[in-house]
Amino acid sequence: MIPAGNMLRHPLLCLFQGYLRHVILHITDRCSLRCKTCFVRKGGRDMHIEEARHIAGRLGKVRWLDIGGGEPFLHPGLADICRLFPNSDITIPTNGQDPDTIRDTARDLAAFFKGRLTLAVSIDGFESINDAIRGAGSYQNALQTLTLLREVPGLTLKVNTVISNANLPELTPFMRHIRALEPDYHSLLLVRGAPDDPAIALPPLKELEAATPEILDILGSYRFGNRPHSPMGMLKKRYQRYLWHINLKTLRTRRCWVPCKAPYLHRVVYPDGGISLCELMPPVGNLLEEPMDVLEKRMHEFLEQYERKQGPCFCTHNCNLGENIQTHPRSILAVLLGIDP
Ligand code: SF4
Ligand code: SF4
Repeated sequence: MIPAGNMLRHPLLCLFQGYLRHVILHITDRCSLRCKTCFVRKGGRDMHIEEARHIAGRLGKVRWLDIGGGEPFLHPGLADICRLFPNSDITIPTNGQDPDTIRDTARDLAAFFKGRLTLAVSIDGFESINDAIRGAGSYQNALQTLTLLREVPGLTLKVNTVISNANLPELTPFMRHIRALEPDYHSLLLVRGAPDDPAIALPPLKELEAATPEILDILGSYRFGNRPHSPMGMLKKRYQRYLWHINLKTLRTRRCWVPCKAPYLHRVVYPDGGISLCELMPPVGNLLEEPMDVLEKRMHEFLEQYERKQGPCFCTHNCNLGENIQTHPRSILAVLLGIDP
């Protein structure tokens, strides 16, 4: 239950909350890799299926469900947990280190979710660059997973790449290489936070801007799983372009350009039931122990306190920007008309 003051401020968002709710459900914090850019604290905890059932009941309607980890495919109950959300669009990221298991589980889930499943294989660059960031041998395994997943009918397949100083110099040749492998699209994510190691820190804005025309040229060549010249494919291209420009504009000006809807639409749940407003904010309580309305109120209070101390919150977190753009009239119009922010 959203606090009354916020209901008055955003009545439409509150009314359609169930149709627009985006949840990131971290089902395990175990992982087979130790990537240098990782922000997950590995505690060896899997969410139990009964805990997931309880959490699904408390969350209610979820429009977009991102499964998170650790590595989700290490969880033996991954498919059962996904099926607790039969009406959601589901995205599962994977490090791609167990190709056969990932292909078999993906085939099973693609048949169940019928066109609403996206698999995202993480690859950060050509073999030497990727393996320096993600660990020796990880590139070849991930590539094999990508190849196997291309044969699975009924799923959308993408590659996720985290941009840092380590891979920006070779990013566009690498993107062309991935393009030739024909996933449905390629997602670029800016590395989070301020890593101690400058090699994996966020590249200077000028370098990102210099690479922008070629990056957008390659992203614009994807069909996003649609037929050639389909209006939906065109809209998705425009959306990706808008998203990239918004990220750079946010970095340039250090302010939020599309109002953050996290307090209304976004929830992150961790393997122990901890819940937070977004992945960049700490958990405010536990969904297995406390009612949702108490937690909702606490999340809103937490953000208000944070903004009183730090000023208006902003970030370049793509997971949240999706629903922010899709619920912001000016951004919707800009994407429809193909206007850059
Ligand atoms: S695969 Fe993902 S969860 Fe595992 S170490 Fe790498 S970034 Fe972290
Ligand atoms: S960190 Fe980003 S997603 Fe989280 S509340 Fe702030 S602006 Fe929203």
